[in-house]
Amino acid sequence: MAGLGAATTLRRAGYDVVVLERMPVVGGLARTVAFDDHIFDVGPHYFFLDVSDAVNELVKHCVTEEEWRPIDFKISTYIGKHHVPWPPSLKSIYKLPPTAVFQYLQNAIAGKMPKQHVASEFLQGVYGKVIYKVFLDPYLRKKVPTSDGAAQLHRDWYNQTARTIHNVPDVLRDKMLQVEPDVVKTYMARYPEVEKRLAEEKAQREAEENDNDKQVKEATGLRRVFKIFGGLTRSVTATNYKKVLYPPGGVGVITERIAEEYERLDGPLHLKAKNVELHKDGSRITSVTWDGGKIDNPREVIWTGSIHRLCSMLDIQREELPFMTIVLGMMKLKRPLPDNEELYTYVADPDIVFNRIYYPNRSVPGLCPPGKDSLCVEITPTDQRMETMPEHVYDNIVAGLEKLGICKADDIEDIEYMFVADSYPVYPIDYREKLERIWTELDKVENLRSIGRSGQFWYNNMARSMRVGIEAAQDIMGTYKP
Ligand SMILES: Cc1cc2nc3c(=O)[nH]c(=O)nc-3n(C[C@H](O)[C@H](O)[C@H](O)COP(=O)(O)OP(=O)(O)OC[C@H]3O[C@@H](n4cnc5c(N)ncnc54)[C@H](O)[C@@H]3O)c2cc1C
Repeated sequence: MAGLGAATTLRRAGYDVVVLERMPVVGGLARTVAFDDHIFDVGPHYFFLDVSDAVNELVKHCVTEEEWRPIDFKISTYIGKHHVPWPPSLKSIYKLPPTAVFQYLQNAIAGKMPKQHVASEFLQGVYGKVIYKVFLDPYLRKKVPTSDGAAQLHRDWYNQTARTIHNVPDVLRDKMLQVEPDVVKTYMARYPEVEKRLAEEKAQREAEENDNDKQVKEATGLRRVFKIFGGLTRSVTATNYKKVLYPPGGVGVITERIAEEYERLDGPLHLKAKNVELHKDGSRITSVTWDGGKIDNPREVIWTGSIHRLCSMLDIQREELPFMTIVLGMMKLKRPLPDNEELYTYVADPDIVFNRIYYPNRSVPGLCPPGKDSLCVEITPTDQRMETMPEHVYDNIVAGLEKLGICKADDIEDIEYMFVADSYPVYPIDYREKLERIWTELDKVENLRSIGRSGQFWYNNMARSMRVGIEAAQDIMGTYKP
């Protein structure tokens, strides 16, 4: 997403670009894989359409009209035995302890943003103590391999806090950051043009407000009240689902089409590029080599692989910033699952081995043969949990599915496992300082940018990775506007 977003944007503007990809296919984490005639993504993948106009423009330009299929982003969670929409809504009131819904809605209506950085404290501030206790705490202990779950996580992980292409916390795009004066100061120092723009906009707004008579002000005030009320009603009744893109054929279609566009513009794409190495002399990358190829004196190098690999290549000290590996259990089912609309479901129960179930055929039909179905479970293995290794895990998966009433052992025709390395970066409490030390060193290399989920050690989504790619390209072209 990040690499092709950057490459295609540059190629569309006529720049010479070379893309190196170590796998035989494009897409990275957002590729689609086939298990015989059942199609899966690398875990559930839905493309958010509310991230940036530039991203949507690029995707819409490349993905055909028939493939551009927005669907409702409906997800859910098992809390105890109850299947509850997530985030909680009024519909959940019969399924959750009443205090849970009450605390959550009270916090939502108050609209207060907790300032704590420790995820456990922050989450209790947002969702209330009861939802934290019955869902978030046990879920995060299972999902994230830290012994203490959310108590050892930075809340930026849960929020997927926005970052700029220069790795500055993105105050403009992230309301949560606006309550941190130091972060705002750092941002404004890095982007003085934004400070100036905001001051001008504020002055203009104030001038306009002074011009308006009282009647207009009242109308505006009333409109605002209706807007807030409408927003709250929608959020507690959960009827306004976000629209997400999911093309028939799987999420991998998005990057495949963008790669086709890049190649149509004569952009060279080297798949199976093995042993990619960056060579530095002083403050510049002076060459990029891979098995069978070399580029001397690249004007710019954009890296989207692991930040740790980049540090090793450039002799920069690595930091204790862990990436998680997950195991996916992809199952072929002999018969269709009961109809339902949730695209995936979180599972917090500590006695169930997986933390999420995703139902591929609910995104679009036709991802498996007629009369069959597919199911995928996501597991976080740890050293302490040998039982989550493929050779031991099957019975536990079946027991979990049966406990939740999803399907029976006899419904499963076959299962295939996939290890996904570097699937999620995990933020320890002091991750900001650790990353800062890495950026201080990486920023000394004039013609290098490390972007994307692994390249920035950034828990993000596909559209955000693509946006950072597009914006890195704009920065190279001199058109980037923070
Ligand atoms: C289980 C799961 C579920 C997710 N669900 C969603 C979702 O619903 N919606 C959403 O928007 N996002 C989701 N995401 C996040 C999404 O997958 C990522 O944010 C996005 O795909 C990251 O794109 P990227 O280009 O930054 O990185 P990557 O996809 O990791 O791309 C990096 C590319 O660089 C290549 N590469 C790495 N090292 C080298 C090397 N040394 N030499 C050559 N090539 C190299 C890799 O092969 C890869 O193709 C999910 C992620 C996971 C793991």
